[in-house]
Amino acid sequence: MKSIAILMEGTPPELDYDEVAELLKSREHILDIHDLHFWTISSGVLALSAHIEVTDECASSGHWPNCLHSIQVLLRDSLGIEHTTLQTEPPRFREERQHFAP
Ligand SMILES: [Zn+2]
Ligand SMILES: [Zn+2]
Repeated sequence: MKSIAILMEGTPPELDYDEVAELLKSREHILDIHDLHFWTISSGVLALSAHIEVTDECASSGHWPNCLHSIQVLLRDSLGIEHTTLQTEPPRFREERQHFAP
């Protein structure tokens, strides 16, 4: 696994959408990010949710849990985000900004 440079020193008081998206997209297997949200649960506790589009290889080889885990670690260690809700999607999973109940 490629080592990643920590882009930010400390935790910024406000998270920048593009910055967080770029940080995630800099990871191996991560093609794109959408439905990215972050908010504060309680004082100082940050939460983030996002849909993570991974490569075909990552999705089909069953590697995606590793990618999810590495993202969670990255978000916690570099941005101090403890609560993450992440959904992985294969490359052709385009929901056109809508999700339907099963
Ligand atoms: Zn999605
Ligand atoms: Zn992967």
